[in-house]
Amino acid sequence: MNANLNVDELLAPLPAQTDDDNAWVNGWCWLWCGWRYTSVLWIGAVGTFGAQAPLFACGDCLNRLHAMVWDYAEAQHELPTDACGRVVPLYRRSADGLRSGAVRYRRGGRHRRARSPLGERFLRAVTEGATIDG
Ligand SMILES: [Zn+2]
Repeated sequence: MNANLNVDELLAPLPAQTDDDNAWVNGWCWLWCGWRYTSVLWIGAVGTFGAQAPLFACGDCLNRLHAMVWDYAEAQHELPTDACGRVVPLYRRSADGLRSGAVRYRRGGRHRRARSPLGERFLRAVTEGATIDG
């Protein structure tokens, strides 16, 4: 067994696979792969003012999305608190400006590795307060 493996990574379920029993269809992926025509899975609906569309993802993009969702879910359990003990969320109204004031970060967020570049940003935000890219 690799001693560097993260226990949380071992416990996270796998994303859907193209050979599983999900209702994969042939069509265009809506995500990062450049709109490939391939086996895709319906992952939900997306809407904009006055219109909605089904959202499909290919296996590669689904893996990437799966990693981001798990990174977000884990960051939600490690959110810092402000001086009054209120949780400081990852997303705040733009009108409220940037985070200010004393923030208490929980211990231990760095015991795990992020699964995605976005997850690395979430992890830095909940352990260090870093919100600026770089
Ligand atoms: Zn894709």
